[in-house]
Amino acid sequence: MTSAVARRRRAAREAALAQAVAQGLLGPEQPLVGLLDVDGIRASVDALTAAFGDTPVLHTFAAKACALVPVLRLLADAGMGCEVASPGELEQALAAGFAPERLVLDSPAKTVEELRRALAHGIAVNIDNFQELARVDALVAEHLAAGPIGIRVNPQVGAGAIGAMSTATATSKFGIALRDPGAVEAVVEAFARRPWLNRLHAHVGSQGCPLPLIAAGLRATYELAEHINTVLGRRQITDLDIGGGLPVNFADDEDDPTFADHVAQLRAAVPELLDGSYRLVTEFGRSLLAKNGTIGSLVEYTKTAGGRRIAITHAGAQVATRTVFMPQAWPLRVGAFDAHGRPKHTPHEIQDIAGPCCFAGDLTAVGRALPLLEPGDVVALYDTGAYYFSSHFAYNSLPRPAVYGYRAGPDTVHFATVRDAQTLREVVRESGDAHTHALVDLVSTSPSENPSDEDRPDPEEAAQ
Ligand SMILES: *Cc1c(COP(=O)(O)O)cnc(C)c1O
Repeated sequence: MTSAVARRRRAAREAALAQAVAQGLLGPEQPLVGLLDVDGIRASVDALTAAFGDTPVLHTFAAKACALVPVLRLLADAGMGCEVASPGELEQALAAGFAPERLVLDSPAKTVEELRRALAHGIAVNIDNFQELARVDALVAEHLAAGPIGIRVNPQVGAGAIGAMSTATATSKFGIALRDPGAVEAVVEAFARRPWLNRLHAHVGSQGCPLPLIAAGLRATYELAEHINTVLGRRQITDLDIGGGLPVNFADDEDDPTFADHVAQLRAAVPELLDGSYRLVTEFGRSLLAKNGTIGSLVEYTKTAGGRRIAITHAGAQVATRTVFMPQAWPLRVGAFDAHGRPKHTPHEIQDIAGPCCFAGDLTAVGRALPLLEPGDVVALYDTGAYYFSSHFAYNSLPRPAVYGYRAGPDTVHFATVRDAQTLREVVRESGDAHTHALVDLVSTSPSENPSDEDRPDPEEAAQ
């Protein structure tokens, strides 16, 4: 049976697609668009908050899943914090108006300057390794640390279905690998010497990680916190950052598993985790946004080749990178709509859905039974609200598409611009337009001549 959540999601999406076509947001002039269900995003936040009930918890959104400032602003407005993992994401989160104390910085490659900036602003930092810990020691000695500081651990509980998404394998690049010889002792020692370390962090995995595996990783993290506090004879660890990683169902419109399922699993595996003795931080990304986004794309041509029917659309590897390169791991549902953006109900035919990129593998779906597509029709890629709009791949210099948020009422749909489409002018500028003559000039300079200061690259400018 279809749930009310799934029915609303589908009805709102269909209304938005038809209205996007009617209003020219999707059509011959704009053949590719991203759409975000604003009520759906808010409902996802409500479901997350409700699942944890009265447990004290700061829910942060993993910015990389949808690093668009108005989306971050919507989440801040709904009471969330934000998890950032690069200087760019930090700037986006600050632009969205998150207070520094609602931010968490989690990159595995933080530079000294990034650490200095985060610590001075009171942004929570999760340290990835002992070398980074030494850098933080030096900054703490300068009295720079104002916010919570934690250590990321890898409980090494194993992999989920997608290797590249599994952060808690024996050899993962993230965190301190707890089952390696001497690691637990070294972490205990690190806390013993540093009264300002007060947090443990684990993000056990993302898409493809079964809930019991995540729960097992968090059980190990909880037990380590208890062990450290017991050895130290004081409750030095006050916060546990339990990461994100709730998998998303890409097969239909249902939320499955739900945040409530995840919390029930945690309650069964580590009941003490939720009893309020630790302040929790979460970092969900995909599970908050994926099912609230749709890519709409025009069918430009259709053809047959070697008995295959192929619809050539404008959505390919540039917006659906993982789906195109790892189709087994990241399959997407596809919807067939007519030139007015209304669902097609004609008999199904087996078809491939291709993108615009100039390589043969640029396919978003292979061998799908769908109403026969024709030029001018619209193809929708469902469940693309997380990662698809923030992980653009600039292949063939294809521009980033516009993204609009929508709210569907009983007889109208309201849109708001989240991101303008990248212009061709911007594409050219971002490809070194300002340095058009640089290489020709370099070739015409004889090697014995000293280049003038003007021609020399300016590292400060490069960092801007
Ligand atoms: C990517 C990431 C997340 C979010 O993962 P989702 O699977 O999108 O929920 C959370 N924490 C860290 C450290 C991450 O790298």
